[in-house]
Amino acid sequence: MTFSVHGLAVSRGIAIGRAVLVASSRVDVAHYFIQPDEVDAEIARVRAGRDAVVEEIYRLQTSISRMGPKEAPTELAALLDVHLMLLQDEELVGGVKHWITDRLYNAEWALTTQLEIIARHFDEMEDAYLRERKADMEQICERVLRAMKGGQSPVLPAQRPSRKGAQQDLLLDDTVDVPLVLIAHDLSPADMLQFKQSVFAGFITDVGGKTSHTAIVARSMDIPAVVGARTCSQLVRQDDWVIIDGDAGVVIVDPSPIILAEYGFKQRQGELERGRLQRLLPTPAVTMDDEKIQLLANIEMPEDAQAALKAGALGVGLFRSEFLFMGRHGQLPDEEEQYRAYKKAVEGMEGLPVTIRTVDVGADKPLDASVHDDAHLNPALGLRAIRWSLAEPAMFLTQLRAILRAAAHGKVRLLIPMLAHASEIRQTLAHIERARAQLDRRGDVYGPVQLGAMIEIPAAALSLPLFLKYFDFLSIGTNDLIQYTLAIDRADESVAHLYDPLHPAVLRLVADTIAECRAQGKDVSVCGEMAGDVTLTRLLLGLGLRSFSMHPAQILAVKQEILRSDTTKLAVWAQRVRTAEDPALELAGGYV
Ligand code: PEP
Ligand code: MG
Repeated sequence: MTFSVHGLAVSRGIAIGRAVLVASSRVDVAHYFIQPDEVDAEIARVRAGRDAVVEEIYRLQTSISRMGPKEAPTELAALLDVHLMLLQDEELVGGVKHWITDRLYNAEWALTTQLEIIARHFDEMEDAYLRERKADMEQICERVLRAMKGGQSPVLPAQRPSRKGAQQDLLLDDTVDVPLVLIAHDLSPADMLQFKQSVFAGFITDVGGKTSHTAIVARSMDIPAVVGARTCSQLVRQDDWVIIDGDAGVVIVDPSPIILAEYGFKQRQGELERGRLQRLLPTPAVTMDDEKIQLLANIEMPEDAQAALKAGALGVGLFRSEFLFMGRHGQLPDEEEQYRAYKKAVEGMEGLPVTIRTVDVGADKPLDASVHDDAHLNPALGLRAIRWSLAEPAMFLTQLRAILRAAAHGKVRLLIPMLAHASEIRQTLAHIERARAQLDRRGDVYGPVQLGAMIEIPAAALSLPLFLKYFDFLSIGTNDLIQYTLAIDRADESVAHLYDPLHPAVLRLVADTIAECRAQGKDVSVCGEMAGDVTLTRLLLGLGLRSFSMHPAQILAVKQEILRSDTTKLAVWAQRVRTAEDPALELAGGYV
């Protein structure tokens, strides 16, 4: 039966594919595609895991048989029998084989997928005793997973293997080449990073806001995504056909052939539009009144530099270095590893500037708790970003040395997140000096860097003279600036309707920052999601912004808006929008 689920539209486009449900409690289990010639070995891995658990149970049974009824109640022996029986269960064994053979899932993924299907069947059982066997099934699967953990877990392949080559008709083709969409209650940015190398055609999560980091990474992958879809991961079943409408924030489950055809058409229209935008690639981003606009890229990993160049970015306006620190199981990257990563990004940009932001962890970008524990009352207001760096000087100095060394290979700008206090600014500058002195003592080569601050706390936007005194450039982080101005958790879907880039207070802080920087002749850019939102391009141009940093995938659409704009006309209109009681209404009226 067809039904739809509504969430937040976070990454544009239409995706049509089979649902792959990833339970958040099991995100630690590796999910990757194997090669067709690895099927037998993968099945053997599960079999070995299962045999190990069977052995374990036999051993237990033997020791129990030597005990008296007091130490080993008869129920225990009966339970072990049930576990043995479940381990041979045809639905489990056959299902796991199916996911490995037909879908090329790795063994752990196949096992957890089949467990979810069986768990649902148990939930639907009328008999209470049988329903309770679900817990036993979960237990034995966990034991098999643990038994399998001894073996090595290969890394994700960059490409999903294909046995058939060309993509075939969606409804007829039910093999390994079917597009897949990922559905989860929640995905951490680190999980997203892992999936970034994978092949999903779209993402859906139950939780998250428009500018949560999961949404940001989905946008950077340029694939349709819906977040904040509430109970979607419970409503959709493994392998259901699903349509993601990333423009409307709608998920359609089990669509009828008519709906499928309609969305297939929309999908092709979107592809045509992208093709048309590609023609703008060689055109410089200059307005009708000859204002040159700088379009920069936001990147998460050094490899993203390629996409930035391909999209025609004139540099990297934000390299979120914290992604190098995520999913490391407590082991932070050392100076050498970081240096190599920054150098790779710098060299990848072929002489164009790269703005490296120092580590910005916390809130919805958690690190392993052994390294950074922000499970406090309110992590968004806690020890995150520069606050954490200043609290961990050894880690901070390591990062600064790595960035300074990478600056010997090209133009590097150093960007500091979440500053608010003069004391934090002075401490940061002292650390940079200390890092330089350490490199001098070691005789290491390093390069000059321009120094910038992010304006993402209202206190910073209201202390511009202080920031302009110490920094060469400012970058407005509107994602956090909106969060902190409006007291809205950017990752919380229940208040997503109040997260408003067009609130007059937000516009005033953004407009004042741009105007003050321009008056002082300092560079200013916007690197929050507002910069890549085409519905806001004209407004930002009208407010005087000349440098926009966004995901590479958004650059051409923003350029198209720029080419159609006249900043002198926009300036008058933008002031009207900024001072309106309801700027959204004024904006919707368009400019004349
Ligand atoms: C921002 O806050 O706008 C920003 C660009 O930083 P992040 O989204 O990584 O917090
Ligand atoms: Mg931020």
